[in-house]
Amino acid sequence: NTIIRFENISKEYTRNGVTTRALDDISFSIEKGDIYGLIGSSGAGKSTLLRMINVLETPSSGHVFVNGIDVNSISQKQLSLVRKDIGIIFQDFNLLESKSVFDNVAIPLFLKHTPKHEIAERVTELLRFVGLEDKAKAFPKELSGGQKQRVGIARALATNPSVLLCDEATSALDPNTTESILDLLLRVNQELKVTIIFVTHTIRVIQKICNKVAILDGGKLVEHGRVIDVFSNP
Ligand code: ADP
Ligand code: ADP
Repeated sequence: NTIIRFENISKEYTRNGVTTRALDDISFSIEKGDIYGLIGSSGAGKSTLLRMINVLETPSSGHVFVNGIDVNSISQKQLSLVRKDIGIIFQDFNLLESKSVFDNVAIPLFLKHTPKHEIAERVTELLRFVGLEDKAKAFPKELSGGQKQRVGIARALATNPSVLLCDEATSALDPNTTESILDLLLRVNQELKVTIIFVTHTIRVIQKICNKVAILDGGKLVEHGRVIDVFSNP
């Protein structure tokens, strides 16, 4: 049951007449329910590939399919529907510092004109799920890194997406906090049935939560498949 398919994806950047190939003919599929890791060193192309899923980046050639839809050949209106089904969290959390935790989580719901009482109900439910029900009125600067990422996760889940993109989501966190965020992401996958794509440069993170993995190196897909096969000792 394929949810995302990359088909012959290449990406080139040209700067001052010099062309860099960030991605080179990448093809693989992600199935519904996967926690799919994208691993590789800095500059491997992980983030560029991840961002093609919600069209923050576009391929130079090739196709990205989300639920069978080629996301680069649809109208803005269709694209905004696809994007509502895809949440995203970041290494640096991307919270609005001038807004409360409640308002940060509510942003995606304000944007789609959800009635006020529904927003209150939904935000309360999300904050309970991520373990921050007592922090609704706090501001980001009063939170730890782990708490900020919990707010990021609650915001990303506000519209009930079926896919969650994680761009180095634990790279700014200490090992214990990383563990607790990974446990939360496992619950997101198992209890909420959200497919997760997790970009990281750390094998340990992949081994803890991912069932599948793709290894990128210099824009090339080196290997992909089940974590137990890819990382098993020969
Ligand atoms: P990773 O996430 O694995 O660290 P990225 O996807 O961020 O890798 O980058 C892959 C390659 O593409 C790198 O060589 C990077 O310098 C280049 N790149 C990414 N974004 C841009 C851009 N906007 N302009 C020029 N080069 C870029
Ligand atoms: P980074 O710091 O990881 O480079 P940016 O600040 O450049 O991230 O944001 C990348 C894109 O993601 C921007 O176009 C921004 O509008 C979008 N974005 C930020 N937060 C969210 C969110 N919660 N949901 C969806 N898109 C978001």
